[in-house]
Amino acid sequence: MEMKDFDTPTKNTWCPGCNNFGILVTAKQVLAELVNSGEVKPEEVVVLSGVGCHGKISDYLRVNSFYCLHGRVLPPAMGIKVANQRLKVIAFAGDGDAYAEGISHVVHAARRNLDVTLIVHDNEVFALTTSQVTPTTKVGFRTKSAPKGSFETPLNPLQLMLACGATFVARGFSGDSKHLKGMMLEAVRHRGFSFIDVIQECVTFNPVREKYLPKMYDLNKEGHDDTNFSAAWSKAGETDRMPLGIFYRVEKQIYEKQLLGDRILADENPANSIKQALLQLM
Ligand code: SF4
Repeated sequence: MEMKDFDTPTKNTWCPGCNNFGILVTAKQVLAELVNSGEVKPEEVVVLSGVGCHGKISDYLRVNSFYCLHGRVLPPAMGIKVANQRLKVIAFAGDGDAYAEGISHVVHAARRNLDVTLIVHDNEVFALTTSQVTPTTKVGFRTKSAPKGSFETPLNPLQLMLACGATFVARGFSGDSKHLKGMMLEAVRHRGFSFIDVIQECVTFNPVREKYLPKMYDLNKEGHDDTNFSAAWSKAGETDRMPLGIFYRVEKQIYEKQLLGDRILADENPANSIKQALLQLM
């Protein structure tokens, strides 16, 4: 398959130059590579997205997709994965979507080590609603909801995910599709909760490229040991430079395997399987 095989006829309404395009193109490259290598069949991929500019990615990828409520991308992802462990489940979310409305779901999916991939389009602003602060908005940045500049300390999503027990923690930049593609492939292949915070420039409300590019570097090229939690924590806290790459990666037991072993609930009688799954949870 080629990238164009994942195109849809839906008209793209992102602003010209929006960095969401970089994530969309990369996702198509990753899907084509996974299908061509025989790792997954197209019909075994499920993409979910939340509410925000990023959310339209569900409309632009020709795979099974599910458009979720604001901040609620992970509960349906969990339901889908538990129902059918054969599926590759990739959840896209925005920074406001994931780290404000949906933060409790992100915390618990990471701690459970659910085998799904979460890719956050982090543009540090609520963009679809034309500029309000999100949990990752930098101090001093002016938005409609903070006209004198935000005074809140921003959340560090990488350290949050490390603290919650995520087994794959990475940061990418939507302007570097080649680098992002390698990480996305690794994240989707990872068995367990994989998380990528993607710096996604919103050219309309928060153009950050000029400011961030000089600080960005690939930590995996500087000898970072991605199995070392302390090193990952320290790199995730760096502020003078902006490390990109895989911070942390370990193998741990997967939530749905512990719950169900190798059972595929979707193959069973729906009424029985749902009842049995609920009984196992009690
Ligand atoms: Fe992209 Fe920002 Fe336009 Fe939304 S408002 S489509 S994030 S450039």
